[in-house]
Amino acid sequence: MKNEIIDEFKETGAVVVGSGVAGMVTALKLSPIPVLLVTKSGIGEGSSSYLAQGGVAVAVGADDSPELHSVDTESVGKGLSDDRIVRIITESAPEEVKWLADIGVRFDRDESGHYSLGKEGAHSRRRILHAHGDRTGCELVRALRSAVRKSPHIKIIENNSAADLVKTDGRITGVILRKGDGGWLSLKSDNTVLATGGIGSIYRQSTNPVESTGDGLAMAFRAGVRLADMEFVQFHPTALLSDQKPLPLLTEALRGEGALLVDDKGRRFMKDIHALLELAPRDVVARAIWDRGQDNSQVFLDCTPIWNAEFPSRFPTVMSNCSVAGLDPSRDLLPVVPAAHYHIGGIFTDSDGRSSVPGLWACGEAAATLIHGANRLASNSLLEALIVGGRVAGSIKDTCEGTSLGTEPQESLTALTGEVFPGIREKVAGIMWEKVGVLRSEESLRTALAELDELNEALGEGLSEEMNIITVGRLIARSALIRRESRGVHYRTDYTESDPMWDKHICLEGDVTGTVRSGSDSMEVMK
Ligand SMILES: Cc1cc2nc3c(=O)[nH]c(=O)nc-3n(C[C@H](O)[C@H](O)[C@H](O)COP(=O)(O)OP(=O)(O)OC[C@H]3O[C@@H](n4cnc5c(N)ncnc54)[C@H](O)[C@@H]3O)c2cc1C
Repeated sequence: MKNEIIDEFKETGAVVVGSGVAGMVTALKLSPIPVLLVTKSGIGEGSSSYLAQGGVAVAVGADDSPELHSVDTESVGKGLSDDRIVRIITESAPEEVKWLADIGVRFDRDESGHYSLGKEGAHSRRRILHAHGDRTGCELVRALRSAVRKSPHIKIIENNSAADLVKTDGRITGVILRKGDGGWLSLKSDNTVLATGGIGSIYRQSTNPVESTGDGLAMAFRAGVRLADMEFVQFHPTALLSDQKPLPLLTEALRGEGALLVDDKGRRFMKDIHALLELAPRDVVARAIWDRGQDNSQVFLDCTPIWNAEFPSRFPTVMSNCSVAGLDPSRDLLPVVPAAHYHIGGIFTDSDGRSSVPGLWACGEAAATLIHGANRLASNSLLEALIVGGRVAGSIKDTCEGTSLGTEPQESLTALTGEVFPGIREKVAGIMWEKVGVLRSEESLRTALAELDELNEALGEGLSEEMNIITVGRLIARSALIRRESRGVHYRTDYTESDPMWDKHICLEGDVTGTVRSGSDSMEVMK
């Protein structure tokens, strides 16, 4: 029997997997339902949330409105943002940000006590709330973690990885955890929430923590849950080229304030590429930098034009990352490279985070609510994690019937072996970076799929993080191959234009591939 080696068993009202902003907000707002909050490393650690710099987009300026925020979001989304979820998120933003302030998040304010609002690419207004300059994520995690630790309804299980979902009679009924000591633990619940974050670390160059291996997506896919938009991976144009893992981000706010991109001859090459210059959409800037890298030319971010006495306090993270790399932004040019940064695709959900299989919810970067469309507006993802996390909790509370699943431990969907396969991670990261990265083509994607298939066969069937990495890589490559056009962050060198026939989302569900239009969840099966 597959569950013979499960050595512990617990039952609860709700299981939340992941302790970034999405997981912690969901867990807090589930009160008073008893919650087990499971996380791969320490609480709040190993999360992109902790690393977030720029901030949270919210229309609170005197010249701003949720409507304008919606227009900017949809304009970047290139026809694929679902206007209903865009409206829900932009309209709820001011109130939910107030909730954050109420639980103790200290956003930066100006002398008159108003929020100090930053500007980022493709935002038509100043609307980025930040904290301690560019330490926004750190401050959010600090406040949420402290609230979680004080909440009697939440039990925290740290240093445990969710390995597989449990499905009983067509419903998700819990999770199997791989414990830090190598054993297995079975959690049974009517309500399981995946808030496992992104997939960036399956790429060679990434700003994401090593924990971002897409486990939630792989588990959901194995359980027959629908995924969407897997091909849309956002590459941040300006990671600091260094030996550090993850690569440190040079926040877009630097370009927002006037930092320049120059090539190794000191030319501002964005002048030839886009009217918005350095503040062109991220995908445009990322491709421009990638192209220069192919000619062995290095691109630099020049912060000297914006250097002033306030710079160190406005950008403390940038200062410390540069210092580790031996660079001084007041005089040195900072070498930059694009890096996998944000996954738009994920577990397909409605606006309350409900997945296609009863008993399972998803939120944050692991979910595909369709707010971002084909490209993500900067600083909209923390906002999405915050708001959809709260909506997941509301939806579970509205439908929660209490635990009624019996007391028998349950079986994993996949064999539990827990083997580790050295070297696989690096191989997958190389394949994804070279062939499923900033630029893709039919040839590169087919080669990637063949290479990933080969690695998959070498692994065999037991559960492992490597298996998740390969699964997610294959799903991204498969969707990227199907989308024969370029749109937003997905750029095909063999189909360089957008095609109206692809005004739809690609969905994957077991062996079935289909499409949905924004605003609908009925899937049209593709032959
Ligand atoms: C460097 C950087 C800067 C960014 N800056 C901004 C910004 O300024 N504004 C903005 O809006 N967005 C920003 N983003 C994106 C944003 O931070 C993320 O999209 C957002 O934080 C995602 O939150 P989350 O809770 O969904 O996932 P995360 O914060 O990544 O949390 C995922 C959690 O799940 C855990 N986990 C993963 N797998 C498992 C498993 N198998 N079992 C148990 N636990 C697991 C992880 O350890 C982690 O605790 C940035 C991202 C990065 C990397």
